[in-house]
Amino acid sequence: MSVPKVEAFARALRGEVVTSVRTASAAKVASRVSTLGEAFDDIESARTEAARIKDEVLDRLRDLLLEFEARATARRIQVHWASDAAEANRVVLEICRRVAEPGAIVAKAKSMATEEIGLNSALEGAGFRPIETDLGEYVVQIDGDHPSHIVTPIIHKNRVDVARSFVREGLGPYTEDPAELTMQARAKLRDVFRQASVGVSGANFLIAETGRIVLVENEGNNRFSTTAPRVHIAVAGIEKLLPSERELPLFLKLLAGSATGQRLTTYVHLISGPREANDPDGPEEVHVIFLDNGRTRVLEGRYREILRCIRCGACLNVCPVYRQVSGHAYRHVYSGPIGAVLAPALEGIDAIGDLAKASTLCGACEEVCPVKIPIPRMLLELRDEAARAGLGKRDIPWKRFATLAGSELLWRAGLTLLPIARKLPSALGREWAQKREMPMREGRSFREWWRERS
Ligand code: SF4
Repeated sequence: MSVPKVEAFARALRGEVVTSVRTASAAKVASRVSTLGEAFDDIESARTEAARIKDEVLDRLRDLLLEFEARATARRIQVHWASDAAEANRVVLEICRRVAEPGAIVAKAKSMATEEIGLNSALEGAGFRPIETDLGEYVVQIDGDHPSHIVTPIIHKNRVDVARSFVREGLGPYTEDPAELTMQARAKLRDVFRQASVGVSGANFLIAETGRIVLVENEGNNRFSTTAPRVHIAVAGIEKLLPSERELPLFLKLLAGSATGQRLTTYVHLISGPREANDPDGPEEVHVIFLDNGRTRVLEGRYREILRCIRCGACLNVCPVYRQVSGHAYRHVYSGPIGAVLAPALEGIDAIGDLAKASTLCGACEEVCPVKIPIPRMLLELRDEAARAGLGKRDIPWKRFATLAGSELLWRAGLTLLPIARKLPSALGREWAQKREMPMREGRSFREWWRERS
C-alpha cells in the first residue's frame, strides 16, 4: 500500500497554501503549549484522567445514551437515533418540512457531524437554503470549497483569498483587514439569523446525568443559530457524551487549550431545552439527533480508542505530513492523524485505508492528544490489516528488502557487499535512495559478535 493520492496532492499544492497551513499550525502549536502549561499543574495527569473518563463513556455507552435520552426528554428535548448519514438527513428534513416553508433559510453553526453526513447537500436537494454562520465555514461555502481542518476550516486560505471572495459576493469594498472582513460577514449573517426558521448545530458534549447540550465557540454564531430560529437541531456522534457536569471543567479546559490555545473559549453554552412560557427568547423545539454511522462497529473493534476524540485538531497542527499536504489531501471530512484512523475505521480500509500511510509515525499526535489516543499504534495496525488483506501494491524498495532479509544466503551476501552496494543508489529504488543514504555498518556483524560471545 502506498500514498500516491496524498503525495500527488501535495506535489500539486500551491506554495501559498502550504505557507498558510504551516504558519497557522505552528502558531496553534506554540499557544497550545503555553496555555496548557498555565492551565494545569500536571498536564499528564489531566490527559490521563480525560482518557479514563472517555473510556468509561465508551464502556457504558448504551446506558449513558439511554440516561441522556430520559433526562433530555424530561426537559422537552426530542431525541432521535440515526444509524447512518441518510437516516440523520431524513430526520432533519422531516423536521424542516414540518416547521418551515419551502426555500426557508437554515442557519448552520459549525459542525463536523453535519459535514460527515453531507447535510447541506441534502437540505439544498430538498429546496432549503442552508447558510453557514461560522466565519470560516461561510467562506468555504461561498467558495464552493470544503473545510481543510476540523477546527479552522480555512486554514488553507489567507486574508487575500477571503477579501477576494467577499468582493465577489458583494459583501463590501476590498479590504485585507481581518476586523473589517469580519464586520462585512457579520452584517450579512445578522439577516440570516433573523430570517432562519431552523438552526442546526453540532454538540461538543452531551451530559448524560442532566440531559444538557454543551456547545463551545468564539464567534457567537452558535448562540444566534440555536436561539433565534424557532427550532434548534443538534446533530452529534453517539460518542460525544460525558457522564456528568462534574467532568465538564476538565474537558472545557483541555479542548480550548488544545484547539485554539485559549484558557476557555469566548462562549460556553449549556442548552437545557426549548424556551419556557416566560422566557424572552429561545427556540420552541430542541432536537438531538444521535449519529451512529459506523461508530458502534468501531466501538467493537481494535480502533475503539479513536472514539475518545474530542475534535480539538491538535494532532493536525503538530503533524509534519498534515502541515505539508493540508487537509484536502485526505479526501475525507476528518483529516490529519485523526482522519487517517477515523476515516478508514468508519468506512473500511478498502475504501480509504491508504491514509494510514500518510504519516511519519513520529508520535507527535499521541503526545499532544488531550485524551491520549494511541494514533501511531493504530496507524501501524491499519497498515498491517491492509497488507494482510492484500490491498494496494507493496512499495518496491521494501519488497526488495523483504526478499533480501528472507534469505540467509542473500542477507550474508548483502552484508559482505554492503560497502559496494552503498555506492549504488538504485539498489533499493532510485526515488527511495534520492533522499536517503545507506548507513555503513559499524564494527563487527551480529553473527561475528555472537560467535565470539559463545
Ligand atoms: S485525536 Fe486527539 S488530538 Fe486529534 S483531534 Fe482528536 S482529541 Fe484532538
